[in-house]
Amino acid sequence: MNSDPVASVRARVIAVHKNRWEIQLHDGRHLEAIAVRGLDPDLPVVGDWVTATLRQTDTIARITAIEPRRTYLSRKRPGDVEHDAVVEQPIAANIDVALLAMADDDFSVRRLERYLTLAWDSGATPIIVLTKADLTSPEVLQLMAADAQSVSLGIQTVVTSAFTGQGLNELREILVPGSCAIVLGSSGVGKSSLLNALAGTDLQNVSHVRQFDGKGRHTTTSRRLIELPWGAYLVDTPGLRELQIWGDEQSLSHSFADVEDIAAQCRFSDCTHDTEPGCAVQEAVAQGLLAAERLQSWRRLHRELAYLARKTDGGAARAERQRWKAIAKQQRAIKRDR
Ligand code: GDP
Ligand code: ZN
Repeated sequence: MNSDPVASVRARVIAVHKNRWEIQLHDGRHLEAIAVRGLDPDLPVVGDWVTATLRQTDTIARITAIEPRRTYLSRKRPGDVEHDAVVEQPIAANIDVALLAMADDDFSVRRLERYLTLAWDSGATPIIVLTKADLTSPEVLQLMAADAQSVSLGIQTVVTSAFTGQGLNELREILVPGSCAIVLGSSGVGKSSLLNALAGTDLQNVSHVRQFDGKGRHTTTSRRLIELPWGAYLVDTPGLRELQIWGDEQSLSHSFADVEDIAAQCRFSDCTHDTEPGCAVQEAVAQGLLAAERLQSWRRLHRELAYLARKTDGGAARAERQRWKAIAKQQRAIKRDR
């Protein structure tokens, strides 16, 4: 008699290889898994909670369902010039906290705005992390923190140094057991050093040892969840260099709440805060209540998001064209009335 029962378990996707996933079971065991066809959404990403089935005689599990994602971080895939296509590239699912890392020599409020938009759009809570504090004077750190506050509207800022250990306890308190975080930031800002300092080991080695491939082939792991000693998880994302946003205008309202608040007073509800009459945003800039650069950033991101919408959705593209036609018509009418 064939007694090979199928066990069905809940598991978390720990790593994504080419057509293979590495899942972690409740008891901490790691298994290799394939995904069945027709999953919704189509492919599991790092951080996903899944249902996996396994026969006693199999060594490879099958992912048969993906649980709804609480949060989802993705970005626009950079530079497919040939097809001029915009492709959404998933980064991770169910991320609770996005650590936005910046050092003195790389600090940019404008870039921070982009990271904040990305984080809000994913559903994760952003935390600003100033790195390499041992290289920066307390005065400068204070100025950076104040600058960060001016665009982040009450988001927590943590000053850290992977070398002296400053701020690490504060981060440990944020990264509670079971939670999952990602560190975003430019290359060289100290992301790996921070991960290593938090993990208390050299993760570079860890991920090499852990890359499984029974046949000894070289495998490239695009993303991996690293379990910290106290049970929190960090996404390790080699190659997350260039940041391009992927989202919708909803996310702008979070990171630009100040602009949007003022914009509520504009005469036209679809005001682009450019040359429209009765624009409260332009007025606020003129009165020095809103930084002109802030409006510029808002415009840039707005354009980028509109561009993405046009690229990815023919319907949205038509709506966008209609909208601009309507605005142009309105403006002509206003000019005529003068
Ligand atoms: P990543 O590219 O963001 O992962 O950055 P790394 O962690 O590789 O760090 C880049 C460089 O900055 C390395 O030379 C590190 O030794 C250095 N670095 C990282 N963290 C610190 C820190 O807290 N203090 C100092 N002084 N240097 C750091
Ligand atoms: Zn306006």
